[in-house]
Amino acid sequence: MRSATLYGYSVPMDAGVVLRNPLLNSRDGLVAVLQHNGRIGMGEIAPLPGFSLETLAEAKAASCGMLDAWVTREPVDRAANQAPLMGLTDGNATPPSVAFGISCALAELAGQLPEMNTWLTVPLCTRDPDMLLPILLGQPGKKQAKMKVGMHDVIHDSQVVNRLLAAVPDLYLRLDANRRWTPDKAAYFAQHLDPSVIRRIDFIEEPCVTPDQSLAFAQNTGIPIAWDESAREPGFQLVAQPGVAALVIKPSLTGSLCLCRSLILQAQRAGLSAVISSAIESSLGLSQLSRLAGWLTPRVLPGLDTLSLMGSQLIRPWPGSRLPLITLDQLAPIATFS
Ligand SMILES: [Mg+2]
Repeated sequence: MRSATLYGYSVPMDAGVVLRNPLLNSRDGLVAVLQHNGRIGMGEIAPLPGFSLETLAEAKAASCGMLDAWVTREPVDRAANQAPLMGLTDGNATPPSVAFGISCALAELAGQLPEMNTWLTVPLCTRDPDMLLPILLGQPGKKQAKMKVGMHDVIHDSQVVNRLLAAVPDLYLRLDANRRWTPDKAAYFAQHLDPSVIRRIDFIEEPCVTPDQSLAFAQNTGIPIAWDESAREPGFQLVAQPGVAALVIKPSLTGSLCLCRSLILQAQRAGLSAVISSAIESSLGLSQLSRLAGWLTPRVLPGLDTLSLMGSQLIRPWPGSRLPLITLDQLAPIATFS
């Protein structure tokens, strides 16, 4: 007997420091809870305004359709390893946030999303870089941090990068410009970096407005780049190219676990690092992304350090977070299917 419930959530959020969208002061989404044979699977469905193409209302309608179909469909005896992950298609009709959330719930139900979890993430430098120092100094293994650039003037950005890398001599940085620079600004940023620290920039995500400009930046400066926004555009081909180091995968903007796994394999075959990254999910979604990263990209730390932007955690706590926890019974059901 299958049953499913769709819940809504709204968590206060201050994402201005990473999104530069002052109007986005709450994170709103859905939680799908599937039950079958005494087991429970959950998934978070949370389109990110400004990044997702689907609205929350569209995601809700699509989720209701999928849950209704799942509950009413005769259970089919398929190979346990294939049913949930491979059975969900990423056609144009399924919004990525819905495909991701429901495939997570199905994978949990089938025991396919491994529980193992290191909870490790690359710390995000959001405000004062000095506040990051105690975290970096306590990091096991390779010291890594992520920093957004392109939100201030390029001189400021290059000075912060220089200062952070000088303060922690074994630190490596991932930078993310979200396509905010013209080629001239990107070149100006590189010119103001201390040449001795450049080799400790693992990559910069999408420095320029167009992929060609970003590729030229990598080739002119020797600073590797990573694809993020470009990889979700129609016609994007993932191939090995000089200066391209990584592919950033945000599953809520990409699609089902099956599609994410296929992209990770493509990236690895092309010699790129595949980096699982947050689309500012709640602690529920972040904990599943952490499990996904531990499973599919065990040698690459994911970028999941966005919980501190939230006012609460949701259903599943993230270890060490002091934020209050909203439990499932505090959420309002939107629709039930049985
Ligand atoms: Mg990015």
